[in-house]
Amino acid sequence: MNCDELEPLLLEFVSGELVIAVRETVDVHVTGCAHCEALLISYRHTVRVAAALPKCAALPAALEARLRKALADQMGEGEDCR
Ligand SMILES: [Zn+2]
Repeated sequence: MNCDELEPLLLEFVSGELVIAVRETVDVHVTGCAHCEALLISYRHTVRVAAALPKCAALPAALEARLRKALADQMGEGEDCR
């Protein structure tokens, strides 16, 4: 598997949505590939930020909308923050 094939899987990897066999493939690649390791770190960070969003209920609506848009751009379709 090369980097181009791996990239779309990384977000599912950090979300825990991949089946074990694919997780192992991603794991092995990321361990030996600095490019994909950096991507993985950035995805993990994005997922952590998204996970913290439910606490953002007091944010101004315009700011929250901008944050959601920025996250959606990075992550594709995600769950709504409630
Ligand atoms: Zn790679």
